[in-house]
Amino acid sequence: MSLRIVVGVNWGDEGKGRMVDYFARNADFVIRYQGGNNAGHTIENEFGNFKLHLVPSGIFYRSVVNILGPGTVVNLEAAVKEMRELRGRGIAIDAENYKISDRAVITFPFHLLQDEYEEQRLSDNKFGSTKQGIAPVYGDRYMKYGVQVGALFHPDYLKQEIGRCLDLKNRIFERVYGMPPFSVDAAYGWAMEWGEILKPHVCDTLRLFKAAPPSRNRFLLEGQLGSLRDVIYGIYPYPTSSSTIAGFGTVGAGYFGRETPVVTGVMKAFSTCVGEGPFVTEISGDLANQIRETAFEYGASTGRPRRIGHFDAVASKYGIEVGGATEVALTKLDSLSGLNPLKICTGYRIGGRIIDYFPIVPELVRAEPVYMEMPGWREDIASIRRYDELPMAAQAYVEKLEHLVQCPVKYVSVGPAREAMILR
Ligand code: GDP
Ligand code: MG
Repeated sequence: MSLRIVVGVNWGDEGKGRMVDYFARNADFVIRYQGGNNAGHTIENEFGNFKLHLVPSGIFYRSVVNILGPGTVVNLEAAVKEMRELRGRGIAIDAENYKISDRAVITFPFHLLQDEYEEQRLSDNKFGSTKQGIAPVYGDRYMKYGVQVGALFHPDYLKQEIGRCLDLKNRIFERVYGMPPFSVDAAYGWAMEWGEILKPHVCDTLRLFKAAPPSRNRFLLEGQLGSLRDVIYGIYPYPTSSSTIAGFGTVGAGYFGRETPVVTGVMKAFSTCVGEGPFVTEISGDLANQIRETAFEYGASTGRPRRIGHFDAVASKYGIEVGGATEVALTKLDSLSGLNPLKICTGYRIGGRIIDYFPIVPELVRAEPVYMEMPGWREDIASIRRYDELPMAAQAYVEKLEHLVQCPVKYVSVGPAREAMILR
């Protein structure tokens, strides 16, 4: 039996997808435990370059069962379209290797509209939502107006629950946003149309795990955003609307085995952030543009240019602690080649004080980064596969980060492709 949880320890886009793709060779089940199609995981392997949104990153191994766990939210139409797109590119995906929990919650078109209306209402104070309806659907889930995917098997109940949700939502649409109501029939028709295609994939995943033969017992859990976007521990009120950390992993995945997990915290060798919220080490100008272009830092879902910053050891250490990481996979070290010196943020100056813990937003917005510098390296390191062949300056940088975040760096990734990986 084995349980590994892959979490992001920064703001997201650390390279979780590529790590899950890497680990999935040794997995029987790959389970996404939170989020919806708001984020994207990029994977480059023998089949091509993919951006996955609602399909877990184990899909490239035929024997892996990929699951959207109970903790996720599922846009039925988007799931069908992603499945078709993957099939169109030669990836085998069917009811055997792609499953959706009956306890996951449906993201409806009216959630996307609500997201849009709300960002318009907020205008200058907007949250930088990806407008995929994620905050509204998780809001509904916790308000108990959500509709579980399993309702697809009970049409009368499905319609009743959509009606219950829309009864409140349409008052908000009309009176708060001045927008037309969304028809129950249209939402029901949409769910029946796309749900019909997905029904063979929907199951009680808890029973699925129980029924699995004893030899199929390697579980790999896939987080979808980073610790700093966790709804409780992240940069509130700018996080995502679900919990991204390993502590939530087994809950959201619906896997309740007793083994102690290995938690791989995916950490980027510099900082990036998509969306709004305080970002202490943010840089702009030529250096930021240079890193953005070399590292190709554009959102996998939205194409938005990512905000760029120096490595933030305060935020990353916190991300590792709350994320529950027991080991680190450091990604994109190759993107730093040619930069000199490399700055690392080791503390935050707030007023006259220097702190080394990660505070809440009203303090974070006042924090100034305190930096140390490390010498860079010029060599292209993308083809290196042994740690001791890395330039000494690159090794020193890895070891400095490891020391600062106090978690062993077990994997160093030096390129987007599956095998561009150094094991330590
Ligand atoms: P995720 O959401 O955490 O899965 O990450 P994303 O896929 O959104 O963003 C990570 C980006 O970095 C993708 O474009 C990956 O292909 C790329 N990537 C991952 N690891 C490496 C690496 O070690 N080096 C380089 N150059 N790119 C990487
Ligand atoms: Mg991403």
